[in-house]
Amino acid sequence: MGRPRGFLEIARAPAPARPPLDRIGDWRETHLAHPEATLREQGARCMDCGTPFCHAGILVNGAAMGCPVNNVIPEWNDLVSRGRWEDAYRRLAATNDLPEVTGRVCPAPCEGSCTVGINGAPVTIKAIEAAIIDRAWAEGWVRPEPPTARSGRRVAVVGSGPAGIACAAQLNRRGHAVTVYERADRIGGLLAYGIPAMKLDKALVERRIDLLRAEGVVFVTGVEVGRDLDPAGMVAAFDAVVLATGATVARDLPMPGRDLAGIHLAMPYLAGATRTLFAGSDPARAEITAAGRDVVVIGGGDTGTDCVATAIRQGARTVAQLEILGRPPDTRAADNPWPQWPRVYRLDYGQEEAAARWGADPRRYAVATRRFIGEPGGAVEGVEIADVGWEPGPEGRVGPVERPGTERALPAELVLLALGFSGPERSLPAAFGCAVDARGTIAVDETGQTSVPGVFAAGDCSRGQSLVVWAIREGRRAALGVDEQLVRAESARA
Ligand code: FAD
Repeated sequence: MGRPRGFLEIARAPAPARPPLDRIGDWRETHLAHPEATLREQGARCMDCGTPFCHAGILVNGAAMGCPVNNVIPEWNDLVSRGRWEDAYRRLAATNDLPEVTGRVCPAPCEGSCTVGINGAPVTIKAIEAAIIDRAWAEGWVRPEPPTARSGRRVAVVGSGPAGIACAAQLNRRGHAVTVYERADRIGGLLAYGIPAMKLDKALVERRIDLLRAEGVVFVTGVEVGRDLDPAGMVAAFDAVVLATGATVARDLPMPGRDLAGIHLAMPYLAGATRTLFAGSDPARAEITAAGRDVVVIGGGDTGTDCVATAIRQGARTVAQLEILGRPPDTRAADNPWPQWPRVYRLDYGQEEAAARWGADPRRYAVATRRFIGEPGGAVEGVEIADVGWEPGPEGRVGPVERPGTERALPAELVLLALGFSGPERSLPAAFGCAVDARGTIAVDETGQTSVPGVFAAGDCSRGQSLVVWAIREGRRAALGVDEQLVRAESARA
C-alpha cells in the first residue's frame, strides 16, 4: 500500500478525456492519460483491503462483481504508486491478453466492487490499467515471447475477436501451433469493426496482432469456416478446434413500416463507418450516413451510444436515442448493493457529446416504438413512440405498458436499431454437431468444451452478448481446457 491513508487524503481524479466539442470534429480516440504524478497518487488511493473484491470476477445473485480476468489490481496499484511501472506491467500481463483494449473500453466492474467505493469514490483502476500498458509499449517492455519449445500439436481457432485472440495467445505460449481463421478482411472481431475508432484506436489492435504473429500465431483472414473450410475436415486435421465466432444475430424490430428505406441494424452502420476510415475516406461519406439527417437510435446500450457518437461525427442534424427502460437512479438502488456493478445513471461518451452539441442528453427513457412513418415503398420520415410504464402483467411478470394519449412522432430520416444480439449464427455449431442451450448459445462445460470432444467454444458465441473482458476470460479458459486435454493425451501415449 503506497500510502496507508491515501484513500482518505486523495480525491479520485476521473479518467481524463478530450473535450466533447473538440473530439466530435474527428475520429481520433477520446481517451487521454493523466500525468505520471497523478497516476501515482491515484494508485496510492488503493486501500489494499484485506479481501479485495475488485479482482473477484464472480456472479453474485446473477450480477457480475469484480474483474472477470482476475487482474491483481491491488498489487499493480501499489507498484504504480511506488513508480515501479515495469513490475506493474508484468503483473497486468499475467492475467490480461488485451489490457490496452480493456483499459479503454471496459465498463470496469472492478471499480464497481472497489472497497473505497462503499462510501466514497472508487480507485480509478481503469485509467491506471491503460497507463500501465501504454507505458509498457512506449518503453519497449512488450516484446514477442515465443515459446521455447513446440508441442507438435495443432489447434484451430475460429473467429478473431477478443475471445479468439486471448485463446490463441495462451495456446501459443504453451507451445501449440495455432491458426486463427477469420471471415472478415481484418483481425479483431468487434474490436476491429464494432467498437468505433474514437473509443478504440484500431492501430492498438493491429499492434497486438503483430506481436502475436511475431510469437508464432498464424492469422488467416477472408476464410469462413463452414463455407470455405469443412468443419469435419478441421476436426480431423487439428488436435482441437475452438469456436469464438461471437453473437452476431442482431435483434430486429418488426413493426409497421420496417421495410421503409433508411432503417438499418446498428452493425452494418458502425462497420461501414469504420470501413471507410480504414480505406482512408471520410466516414460521413459511408454508404449509410447520418450526414444532414434527423437520426433516431433505438436502444439505449453501448451499441446505441456508439451509433449516437458516430452519427454526430458524420454531421447528423439531430439525434434522439430511445430506451424502453426507465431512467436509472442517480445512486445505487436498495436491490443493487455494493459490490455489484452499480446500475446508475451515467452520461457515456456519445451522450456527453450530444449534450455538448445540442444542450441535452439525447436519451428518452421509458418509451416504446409503435411504428415507422413514411409512404409505402418510400423512405422513413419519422418514428411514432409512446410512453410506457413498467407494470406487472396477468402472470405477475413486470413488462412495459403503453400510456394512452402519449403517442407522438419524432422526425427521422435515418433509424438505427441497436437492440442487442440474440446469439450466434446457428449454422456453425450445427455443422460441428455442437449442442446449443435454450438461448441458442453453444453449450460448454467448465473447461469450455462443447458436447463434441476436442471442440471448445469461448466468448459471446457461448456466453451470449457480453463484454470484451468476459470474452478474454473465456478465451483463456478454453485455452487452458485445450492444453490440459492435449497434455493428458500426451501422457496417456507416453
Ligand atoms: P467477436 O468480437 O464478435 O468476434 C467474433 C469473430 O468471429 C468475428 O470477427 C466474426 O467475423 C468471426 N466469425 C464468425 N463466424 C465465423 C466463421 N464461420 N468463420 C470465421 N470467422 C467467423 N464490450 C466492452 O467490453 N466494451 C465496449 O465498449 C463494447 N462496445 C461494443 C460496441 C458494439 C457496437 C458491440 C456490438 C459490442 C460491444 N461490446 C463492448 C461487446 C464486445 O465487443 C463483445 O462482447 C466481444 O467482442 C465478444 O468477443 P468475441 O471474441 O466472443 O466475438
